[in-house]
Amino acid sequence: MFDLPFDFPPFEAGSVWLVGAGPGDPGLLSLLALHALRNADHVIHDALVDSRIVALARPGAVTEAMGKRGGQQSSSRQADITERLIELAKQGSRVLRLKGGDPFVFGRGPEEALALAAAHIPFRVVPGITAGIGGLAYAGIPVTSRDTNAAVAFVTGHGADGDIPDGFDWDALARGAPVLVFYMGLKHLERMVARLLAAGRKPAEPVAVVCDAATPRQKVVETTLADLAATVAVAGLVPPALLVVGEVVGLRSRLDWWRPE
Ligand code: SAH
Repeated sequence: MFDLPFDFPPFEAGSVWLVGAGPGDPGLLSLLALHALRNADHVIHDALVDSRIVALARPGAVTEAMGKRGGQQSSSRQADITERLIELAKQGSRVLRLKGGDPFVFGRGPEEALALAAAHIPFRVVPGITAGIGGLAYAGIPVTSRDTNAAVAFVTGHGADGDIPDGFDWDALARGAPVLVFYMGLKHLERMVARLLAAGRKPAEPVAVVCDAATPRQKVVETTLADLAATVAVAGLVPPALLVVGEVVGLRSRLDWWRPE
């Protein structure tokens, strides 16, 4: 593929590789991810993975879409996916489980890896560029900058039970992290905003909504915390979308470098 001064690890028959595909742009794939695509027998990919990436699978590989679209996924479907991975590996296939962004960031990758470990299926994890960092970079928004924030929090807007997540302290989150990046944040938007405002975040604080980041459909809308729900409704914004709250949003006016090709 490339003339590289090192060897890739062999993709063993009967093993599963959990691979991150990045936020969208095929150029953001890692070399290991491309190696896996070129060697897998079965590619089981999330609906979020860009079709140009799936098309990089070796000719003859079987590709199957299984899994989430913008955070909507029932637990029974997740059980189907893990069962399928185990079944194919037991049949001696080289199985590539290809997930959007990074497989261990809000993506059920840990559940899949735990099921593989329990079934004694050898597996490897290939990290990917998560949407909350790389996707925002394509929108001209750095997640940290020296002048604005020394901390950032990544938060899911969608708990395991489908409701707004309650496993953490919203007041502490709002007070503790100057920049908040929400994945799957559109569903419970109004309640999340209410919690942040109740915890002292300013209504005028800048927010960006970034849809389909790093894809030809990328759309970015800037608003404020107080106007967020109305802006999303009026602009008709739909998943997959990231919400970023904080001063870094203001850097976008100077850093908006990317034009979808
Ligand atoms: N593992 C993934 C996240 C999976 S959860 C990662 O590391 O990026 C799915 C959520 O990720 C979506 O609802 C959305 O909030 C976010 N997301 C993933 N890809 C995105 C993209 N290209 N643009 C905007 N948001 C994206």
